[in-house]
Amino acid sequence: MKTMTCQQLGGPCDLAHRGETHDDVINAQDQHLKAMEKAGDAAHQPARDEMKKRWRRPRKALGWYNDMKQTFAALPEN
Ligand SMILES: [Zn+2]
Repeated sequence: MKTMTCQQLGGPCDLAHRGETHDDVINAQDQHLKAMEKAGDAAHQPARDEMKKRWRRPRKALGWYNDMKQTFAALPEN
């Protein structure tokens, strides 16, 4: 298991997501951003908008996705 924070995934807080793969933490961040949007948290709105854009334009988002993949791969197991 590895840990990536909301901040490392482009968000504003230091909530930690744990997962076996980069997809796990990206999905956890997506859920977190959705929940924060629902809660009316303005600080997370820009990150939520970015995430929405990524799902709409997956080809353009590939750079970000690969960055996250690399960051995750470089993290120590915990
Ligand atoms: Zn957050």
